[in-house]
Amino acid sequence: MSKKSLSNHVILITGASSGIGEASALLFAKEGCRVILAARRAERIHALADKIRSKGGQALPVTTDVSQLDSLNTLVQAALSEWGQIDILFNNAGFGRLKFLDALDPIQDIEAQLRVNQWGVIQLTRAVLPHMIARRSGHIINMVSMAGLVAMPTYSIYAATKYAVRGFTDALRREVGVWGVKVSGIYPGAVETEFDEHSGANRKTGVRTPKILALSAEEVAREVVKLARRPRRMVVIPRVMRPAVWLTWHFPGVVDWIVERMFVRRERL
Ligand code: NDP
Repeated sequence: MSKKSLSNHVILITGASSGIGEASALLFAKEGCRVILAARRAERIHALADKIRSKGGQALPVTTDVSQLDSLNTLVQAALSEWGQIDILFNNAGFGRLKFLDALDPIQDIEAQLRVNQWGVIQLTRAVLPHMIARRSGHIINMVSMAGLVAMPTYSIYAATKYAVRGFTDALRREVGVWGVKVSGIYPGAVETEFDEHSGANRKTGVRTPKILALSAEEVAREVVKLARRPRRMVVIPRVMRPAVWLTWHFPGVVDWIVERMFVRRERL
């Protein structure tokens, strides 16, 4: 099957100032897409836009806070007035505060995660969708996470947001397919980005995903580009993590037992 060309497609990427969003922006630009770069750190997205343009690509940086409705509406307006269309929306912005629930700040950690990872995804999608429906085409790619399939201790709020995005993704796909709009979810395991620096994780056991299983931002970006070329319901990467999903769904009691003994008792007792 020949690969769908992405040339001249307009893609809006949130969280484009670092990690997966930045790597994806570079790769989509290389594919000939016009890239809208959204994030709060203006200097980073402007520098990235300069880098893309210096290689002959097209980029529009729009300073955006996805937790603010005004900011999201400004973003969509800026995108449409520059290029008149949005072919692909990559809802990627997000962060995790990975501590036990009782150690999380109600506003800075809990409300902020819900607002960015879940509320922002819903509101931006809602703002972009009418344009896709009117054109009878479009693709919404939501960055979920393995944490949207398997919920672990210290991930209570992060997993809640990602489970919510999974539900949103699946329901929306069934709502908008009739208009030719595709909706996909991508579910990576650990990825080496700035995510860890912001997570506040401080574990006695030092337990973390072995480096050999961690993906690079570029590897995830390649999967996102593949997904844009050939929309699918969901992509779980790396493949070696798929048995963990299977085990959690089929034998949740076994997972509870292992996690409590191997991790929670050592961390908390
Ligand atoms: P990074 O920390 O490198 O990137 C996070 C991005 O989100 C930044 O560009 C940041 O931009 C943006 N962001 C955060 N808050 C806001 C906000 N309020 N408004 C706009 N943008 C915001 O981490 P990753 O690249 O790893 O994370 C990208 C996505 O991938 C997230 O949704 C994350 O949950 C998901 N993911 C990450 C995994 C990992 O292990 N790293 C695994 C699975 C999924 P700025 O601060 O400039 O606003």
